[in-house]
Amino acid sequence: MQTKDTLYIGGEWVAPSTSNTIEVISPATEEVIARVPEAAEGDVDKAVEAATSALAGPYPALTPDERADMIAKLSQAIQARSADLADTITAEMGSPSSWAPMGQVFAPSMVFDGWADLTRTFSFEEIRPGAMGPVLVRKEPVGVSAGIIPWNVPLFIVALKLGAALAAGSPMILKPSPETPLDGYILGEILDEIELPKGMVSILPAGREVGEYLVRHPGVDKVGFTGSTAAGRKVGAICGELLKRCTLELGGKSAAIMLDDVDLDAAIPMLMPNSFMNNGQACVAQTRILAPSSRYDEVVDALGAAVSSQTVGDPTDPSIAIGPLVAERQRDRVLGYIEKGRAEGAKVAAGGGRPAGIDRGWFVEPTLFAGVDNGMTIAQEEIFGPVLAVLPYDDPDDAVRIANDSDYGLSGSVWTSDVEAGIDVARRVRTGTYGINQFGTLDMRHPFGGFKASGVGRGLGP
Ligand code: NAD
Repeated sequence: MQTKDTLYIGGEWVAPSTSNTIEVISPATEEVIARVPEAAEGDVDKAVEAATSALAGPYPALTPDERADMIAKLSQAIQARSADLADTITAEMGSPSSWAPMGQVFAPSMVFDGWADLTRTFSFEEIRPGAMGPVLVRKEPVGVSAGIIPWNVPLFIVALKLGAALAAGSPMILKPSPETPLDGYILGEILDEIELPKGMVSILPAGREVGEYLVRHPGVDKVGFTGSTAAGRKVGAICGELLKRCTLELGGKSAAIMLDDVDLDAAIPMLMPNSFMNNGQACVAQTRILAPSSRYDEVVDALGAAVSSQTVGDPTDPSIAIGPLVAERQRDRVLGYIEKGRAEGAKVAAGGGRPAGIDRGWFVEPTLFAGVDNGMTIAQEEIFGPVLAVLPYDDPDDAVRIANDSDYGLSGSVWTSDVEAGIDVARRVRTGTYGINQFGTLDMRHPFGGFKASGVGRGLGP
């Protein structure tokens, strides 16, 4: 049982302004594993004050190379604490230890490395020809920024946002989700260790009310939000009303299109780790699998066998593929979608409930639905759990139509022996990041973000 009694505000470990606390509950055992302070409005005020001072402090005045060195140091320090970070994220949200070291720690470190490289080469100042003489265009720090972080890949989302802020010289106030406050304590220690100038970062774990207070705060100039589409609409509305810049990275319901020449033996083993990534709690997961009608039964059988073979259980056991869902409410939500799938006439081809023999923890069996129509709830709404749907299509045009018949547009993939045919499909799907014979979730140095209800703006890349 870990207990913390301070918050990281402006580079100092300070007593919180209230006695409110967050209990962290293990999704695998349902036991309380930690108690930490919950940040309140007074703490946000302090963080904004520190960040405002930091804007006039040493960090934003560093050269791009000096800022890049700091970001690279941050990446190295994350790698040095890799085991500790991965174990902590597994403990707080159930990320399987077969994936967490890579997905929850190494990937964020690579994102920071990407930002460091970009900071060295990006043109922060350039002289452009103008009608009345040369024009000096300067890219300046946006001001005080806020990063609102979801619980599924907490350090990764921090890397997307904080990397950009540190590249540009903007102080950032991070607000982790109440489900995952613990990794933020390690991040605070790392920021101390690399001697990031004071004021540049605060870490305030709290719920949505305090998040909203931070978004509305007159001292905050830019909001980077990652989370559900519902909360993103709210944050976007507030930013619109207050004319603040904001970037929204929201949900997804991405389609993997199997063309009729697909080699299932090659495709399915590559697709599974994406579709069930992080226990199915990934915004970029390929959760609708589109199969040609001519090969539909064969695809369902092959996927059914692959889904049934996924191991479920203790996320600290590295032989396990799928751990628990983050919270009881999330488990119940996912089971509710499975019931809805059945009620709307889809057929369970694998899984379909709680795993037998596991009597505690918020586990759901990896589940495959067949006989799914794209109008069904399980094909339209983001489930955020280990539940996949296989849909039949007639020809590639029909596949593209079904892929695009979604409120979302975050990721997607096409699986084929004919790369040109794959590129043709890729060009026609309205989505952010697309993979051909891979799940193409994102690349650390290239833009990432969504179309439609998957978000506004892009993270990563220049
Ligand atoms: P959530 O929207 O409930 O919460 C996300 C974060 O926003 C949390 O820190 C929460 O406290 C905060 N928040 C919620 N309402 C707020 C408000 N009104 N004002 C300010 N802050 C508020 O989402 P979640 O359940 O934590 O995360 C899962 C969701 O995140 C999924 O829908 C998933 O697809 C999405 N996600 C998207 C991406 C992406 O890059 N597109 C990445 C990861 C997760």
